[in-house]
Amino acid sequence: MKNFIVKPLFLLALLVGASMAVASCDKDNNFTRRNILQVDESYGYTNINLQDCQYNLDNMPVEALSPAEQNSILFMREEEKVARDIYLKFQEKWNLNAFSNISASEQTHMDAMLKLITRYNLTDPVGSNGVGVFANNDLQTLYDALLLQGDASLIEALKVAALVEEVDIVDLQTALSTVVDNQDVEMVYENLLAASRNHLRAFVKNLQNQGVTYVPQRLTQAEYDAIINTGWEHGQHGG
Ligand code: MN
Ligand code: MN
Repeated sequence: MKNFIVKPLFLLALLVGASMAVASCDKDNNFTRRNILQVDESYGYTNINLQDCQYNLDNMPVEALSPAEQNSILFMREEEKVARDIYLKFQEKWNLNAFSNISASEQTHMDAMLKLITRYNLTDPVGSNGVGVFANNDLQTLYDALLLQGDASLIEALKVAALVEEVDIVDLQTALSTVVDNQDVEMVYENLLAASRNHLRAFVKNLQNQGVTYVPQRLTQAEYDAIINTGWEHGQHGG
């Protein structure tokens, strides 16, 4: 008698589960992801195209967000702000185009992170905070130290900029391999990562122009060489 009840219920659960799986796959599979990277061919400044980023997000499911994933989004939103603000200050001090152009790129990275914050109804840690103001104490400390270091000379500022990109690369890679499993967060992070590798290449070239060979501070020499020995990344269509 028991089996007559349990079996249909079990089958029903299976059917509901299967149809839900199909529905969530549909949302991902029935569209072609747009390439959201905009790369300057000469200098490697890499923006996120926000319209195309939104298009990809609109076609992806909103999945459950783990607390670690949530913290990572809030952290990366402010880490992109560290890059934007540092380059803004260096532009004021050293008047080098790379700083203003890459600062503008970092603004688009911050905007992409804000899209994730809005999408998951999180509270934006940036809000109306001005240049050089951070909610996260570690990022405030990092910013203050790097700003001081880059005040010494143009070469020191360029080294700091390369370091900022290294930190960004390591943090995004760590997040992707440990806490991120939502496909929308992954899509944004992968693109920010490619952008950071381009910016690292760009700052290293600027240092070369100053006669300086950059030594990686966070990446291993092998990881660093693999990045530097590759040309600008232009992103991928599809995927
Ligand atoms: Mn960035
Ligand atoms: Mn960057």
